[in-house]
Amino acid sequence: MPELPEVETVRRGLNQLTLNQEITGGDVLLERTIAYPFSVDEFLTPIKGSAISTWHRRGKYLLAELTSSPSSPSLPHSLTPSSPLNGGLGVHLRMTGQLLWLHQDEPLHKHTRVRLFFRDERELRFVDQRTFGQMWWVPPGVPPESIITGLGKLAVDPFSPEFTVEYLALKLQNRRRPIKTALLDQSVVAGLGNIYADEALFLSGVLPETLCIDLQPEQIERLRASIIQVLEASIEAGGTTFSNFLNVKGINGNYGGVAWVYNRAGEPCRVCGTAIARTRLAGRSSHYCVHCQR
Ligand SMILES: [Zn+2]
Repeated sequence: MPELPEVETVRRGLNQLTLNQEITGGDVLLERTIAYPFSVDEFLTPIKGSAISTWHRRGKYLLAELTSSPSSPSLPHSLTPSSPLNGGLGVHLRMTGQLLWLHQDEPLHKHTRVRLFFRDERELRFVDQRTFGQMWWVPPGVPPESIITGLGKLAVDPFSPEFTVEYLALKLQNRRRPIKTALLDQSVVAGLGNIYADEALFLSGVLPETLCIDLQPEQIERLRASIIQVLEASIEAGGTTFSNFLNVKGINGNYGGVAWVYNRAGEPCRVCGTAIARTRLAGRSSHYCVHCQR
């Protein structure tokens, strides 16, 4: 499943490739990929003739701002007080979704769900084997969280200034559940999944089973710093090689090759040489070093 660094990698790629050119049309091959509006026509009509001015990320949601296309007939730019917004486009990749930037001639993948065509004969193609991925069109002037309801439930983003030691301590205090379970719960910090929870716990020297209530202030401080560090390292590496993740150019990331513990059960710890252990917590595999983590 794509985690925050993969989604951020996709966002950066989209910002390099897809901005400021007219979307000439689209094709929805699987209707239920479109979560809003409720008909495919209502989804495609406002997007056609728009251009994307920028892509944002909130948790693992991608949000594109739509403007009227610079190449579509409208008032000369100097006469428009500000670029009129045509609403927004939301995307969640879920388990297996991929956004690929391709030439329109490229043969269709078996799991192609939505195609958005651009003026230069490229397209943004949404490919999704498991079909849990979703797209939304958000009407202009409407807050995205009123259409994309999951946005309203997101905790703070690990890269936002609100993700402080005090915030994390408050979220974890008095909780009688393992820290790994709490990290996977998207109500504590947005976008952190199994890979980076294991990695951040290793870097902070905390065992995944440690109950939140037992964490010392210095452990919480290290954990916060480690979460940011491991996510930054992965974004730097272009995302991970796990989960068949591909960036918008169809290239795999490199983080997997340098993981500290994730998916390394039985292999020597990169710090002390002890064999990495694996256990099941909250239905997921947890990987850790019994020597480096306490
Ligand atoms: Zn170790």
